[in-house]
This record gives sequence, C-alpha cells and structure tokens, in this order.
Amino acid sequence: MQRLLVSGLIASCLLASPLAEARRRQPLNMPPGWVWPPSPAMIEEGRGCLRRLERLGLRWQRSEAVPWVATPIQVPDLSFAGLRLLPRGKGPHVLDCQLAEALAAVAAPELRELGVTALRVGALHRRSRIRGTRILSRHAIGLALDVWAIIDAEGEEHPVTRYASDPLLRSIAARLRATGAFRRPLTPGNDRRHHRDHIHLEARTAAERARRAAPGT
Ligand SMILES: [Zn+2]
Repeated sequence: MQRLLVSGLIASCLLASPLAEARRRQPLNMPPGWVWPPSPAMIEEGRGCLRRLERLGLRWQRSEAVPWVATPIQVPDLSFAGLRLLPRGKGPHVLDCQLAEALAAVAAPELRELGVTALRVGALHRRSRIRGTRILSRHAIGLALDVWAIIDAEGEEHPVTRYASDPLLRSIAARLRATGAFRRPLTPGNDRRHHRDHIHLEARTAAERARRAAPGT
C-alpha cells in the first residue's frame, strides 16, 4: 500500500511539471529541425537572432521561459523598426525572436513603403491548436500573429473585414508573401471560412529563409 502511495506521488510529481505534461500530450508544429525542449543548435540559432535584433536597433528584453517558445522575448515599446504593434490585452507580450526579426527586418520596410504605421493584432503569444486538431498552432510557439486592422500614415484604421474592397489590405498580404519571410498569409481572400476578419501571419526562421534562398533548393 505504502509503495503504491509512493509511486503515485512520484507519478503525480512528474505530471505536475508543465513541460513534462506538455511534452507528453501535445504534438508539435515547429519549423524543420526544431524540437522541444530546444536543442543546442536551436539555442545557438536563438543567440544569433538576438545579436541581429541588436543590430536592427530593437529594444528587447528576455522573457521568462515559456513552454514551446524557443527564444522568448518582449519588446516593451512594441516598435519594430518603426512598425508598431497594438496587441489585445495587457500582456506580457511574449514572442519568439525570429518573429520579432521578421517584423523588424522585413515587414517594417515593406509596410512603411505602403504607408502603414501600425498593426492592430491579437495576443502575441497564445496557447492554441490548429483548428480541428490537437496540433499546437504557431501562435503557441511565438512565431505567428493575427492582424485585425492596419493603421495608415493618416491614422486611418483599415479593419480586415473590409479586405475585399480595400486595396491596401490586399497589397499587404501580397507584399509580405512575396518577401518569403512569412508563410502564405491566411486572409479573407484565400480562407473566407476561418479568416474572414483577420490575416494570419507566420514567420519563417532565418535558417528557413536561407534554405529557400539557396540555389537548387
Ligand atoms: Zn492565427
């Protein structure tokens, strides 16, 4: 009886660890080569990303560890090379360094050219699954962003619900897709059923972008 009690206690301690529990239950949806917990190569990749953020002039700070987010950071002023994010909720607004880099290095200059100054977005990190599956979405690993509206240089807000009649919204999705820094954005134009009021963006990691750009791949 006592032995049963002890092994029960051990089992419940193991289950009590959020990471052990997460590992046991949740299929992953990570970039190629990524694993959880992060491998030494991923940790090094994260360090490289943080060094690049410094060079981009981003004011970032480390976040507490967040399950499934390889390099969790916060950007307190939510400004990514001049592109402001206006997230829902009070935060903390945690994201993976790789998403921060894609926003600052790629999205910001593209959107500035189109006259966009800010994006109204959902929570930067949230535990969610791909609809209809048990697979964690890329929101859960800090690489995805839902855009609900954009704000132009005149301060005018363009809600994504106007996608069909607003050329600026359509240009944004097309331009970001063409950069290769994001996987195909899901929009009211290509997924009316699940994305009629927001644009879903997923950053590719720098290593993924390099692989795509390499000749013969
Ligand atoms: Zn989404």
